[in-house]
Amino acid sequence: MQIQGEMIIGGKAVRGEGGTLHALAAATGEKLEPVFGGATHADVDSACTLAGNAFDSYRGLPDESRAAFLEEIARQIVELGAALTERAHAETGLPLARLDGERTRTVNQLNLFAKVLRAGRWHGAIVDTAQPERKPLPHPDLRLRHIGLGPVAVFGASNFPLAFSVAGGDTASALAAGCPVVVKAHSAHLGTSELVARAIAVAARNTQMPEGVFSLLIGEGNWLGEALVGHPEIQAVGFTGSRHGGLALQRIAQARSVPIPVYAEMSSINPMVILPAALAARGEQIARGYVDSVVVGAGQFCTNPGIVLALEGDALDSFCSVASGALKAKAATTMLTSGIHRAYCDGIDRLRRSPRVTQLAEGQAASGPFDAVARLLRVDARTFLAEADLAAEVFGPSSLIVACRDFDELRTVLRRIEGQLTVTVHLDDGDRAMGGTLMPTLERKAGRVLFNGYPTGVEVAYAMVHGGPFPATSDSRTTSVGATSIERFLRPVCYQDVPDALLPEVLRAANPLGVERLVNGTPVR
Ligand code: NAP
Repeated sequence: MQIQGEMIIGGKAVRGEGGTLHALAAATGEKLEPVFGGATHADVDSACTLAGNAFDSYRGLPDESRAAFLEEIARQIVELGAALTERAHAETGLPLARLDGERTRTVNQLNLFAKVLRAGRWHGAIVDTAQPERKPLPHPDLRLRHIGLGPVAVFGASNFPLAFSVAGGDTASALAAGCPVVVKAHSAHLGTSELVARAIAVAARNTQMPEGVFSLLIGEGNWLGEALVGHPEIQAVGFTGSRHGGLALQRIAQARSVPIPVYAEMSSINPMVILPAALAARGEQIARGYVDSVVVGAGQFCTNPGIVLALEGDALDSFCSVASGALKAKAATTMLTSGIHRAYCDGIDRLRRSPRVTQLAEGQAASGPFDAVARLLRVDARTFLAEADLAAEVFGPSSLIVACRDFDELRTVLRRIEGQLTVTVHLDDGDRAMGGTLMPTLERKAGRVLFNGYPTGVEVAYAMVHGGPFPATSDSRTTSVGATSIERFLRPVCYQDVPDALLPEVLRAANPLGVERLVNGTPVR
C-alpha cells in the first residue's frame, strides 16, 4: 500500500484541495514525501454526513459482523508490514522495536473489542418484567439496553502513532459501540495515518460495512478540529493530547446548540510515593526501575512518573545518588516533534527558575536538534506546595523528587495535587499502616493505584482504567484503555411495554442472543 497524500472519506481516497502540507522527519525536521492535500470545509461536511447516514445501518448490524470488521482491520494492519513501522519511525523518531510492539498492542486492542462484542455484556441488558397486579399501581414491563451515541470524532495522539491514533483505542471502542468514526490525523504522523486509514477502508470493503463507517481527515490549523467537533452529526469526541487542546475542543463541544461529550485525556504527573521501609530496604533497586520508567520512549508517556514523594533523610539521599548515576548514563533520544521538544526544554527551564529546585543529574548530551536530554531534579515539599508551576506536566524524560519533612507533609502534597492517571506506592511490610492511611487519598486522586511497580506500561485488559480526575481526563468516570472504554460511546435506552416483536433481540423474552441479562435483579443467561 502506498502513501499518496490522500484522505479517506466514506471508503474512497480523496485528494484534499484545501492547501498542501508535509509530514516532517522527527530527527531532522526535514519534509517527507509525498505532499498531502488538506481538507476543506466541504470534506469535513462530507465525512460527517456520511458517518451520520451510516449510523443506523452500522449499529443495526449483528455483533458478529462488527466483531469481524474489527478483526479484519487488525489483519489489514498486520498486512501493512514493515512499510507501516518504517514510516512511523521516520515521522515520530520512535524506535522500530517499540513500534512493532505498538502495532501488536493495536491489533490486540481491536481483537479485544471483537471479544467484547461476542460476549454480549456490553449491551448491559436489564429486564424488569411487568407486574399487572401490583398495588396500588401496576408495574410496567421495562427493558434496558445500550446503543451507540452516534458518529465519533477521534483526535489521534502524537505519542502513540498506532495504539492511540487512527485505529487506536478510541476508534476501536467507538466502532465496537456501533458508532461510525471520523479521525482527524495528527500532524506529527500523516503518512502513518494514511496507511492505517487505507487498511481500515480495505477492511470495511471486505466485510461489507456501510459507506461512511470510517473517514480520515488531514489538514493544517485548528480550524479542522474545530469544524469537526462543531459538526452537528458528531455526537462525541475522543482526544489524547495537551490540556490546552483538550480544553479548547471541550469548549467548542459545550458551546454547540446541542452540546456533546468530549473524552479528553490531557495531563498527568503520576506521583510515585516511596514509603520509609521500602526506601531503606530497596532504595537502590527502586531508583534504577524509576529512572528506566522516566526515560522510556523519551519520557513521552502520559503515565511518566513526573514526581517522587519520599521522606527526607539518608535513605532518600542515597536513592537520589543511585538515580542520578543511572540517569547520567541514559542517551538523549529524539522527541516526537520540534514543538514537543521546545515544550520540554521550556518545562525544564521553568523548573530550574525556582531557586529551591536543584538539578541532580542530566543524561547524555543531545546529538540531534530535537533530542531530549534526561533530567532529574529535587525540591523540598514546602516549596513544591508554594509554587503551583512545579506541579505542571513536563512532557519528556524528566522527574522531580519532592523531599517531605514527615508523613503528614507527604500526605498534604498528595491531597493538594491535581487529578492523575496513576499514583504509585512502594511499600514494604513496615509501611503497611502508612499505606492504609494513604489509600482513601490515592483513590480520590487517580484512576489507577499501583503498588511496588512503575506506572509506564498500561495493560490493555478488562479491568484497566486509563483515566482519572481532571486534568488527567475531562471525565473521571471513564477510561480510554481497556474493555470498559466502550462505555464512553454508549447510552442507555429503556423500552416500556414494547411488544416483543418490536424489541431489540437482546431484550426479547426468548433471549435469542443468549447473553447474560439482569432479570428482576438477578443475573440470568
Ligand atoms: P496537542 O497539541 O493537544 O494536539 C493533539 C491533537 O489535537 C492534534 O491533532 C492537534 O492538531 C489537535 N488540536 C490541538 N489543539 C487544538 C485546537 N485548539 N483546536 C483544534 N484542534 C486542536 O497535543 P500534541 O501535539 O500531541 O502534544 C503537545 C503536548 O501535549 C505535549 O507537549 C504534552 O504536553 C501533551 N501530551 C500529553 C499526552 C497525554 O497523554 N497526557 C499525550 C501527548 C501529548 P494538529 O495535529 O494540527 O496540531
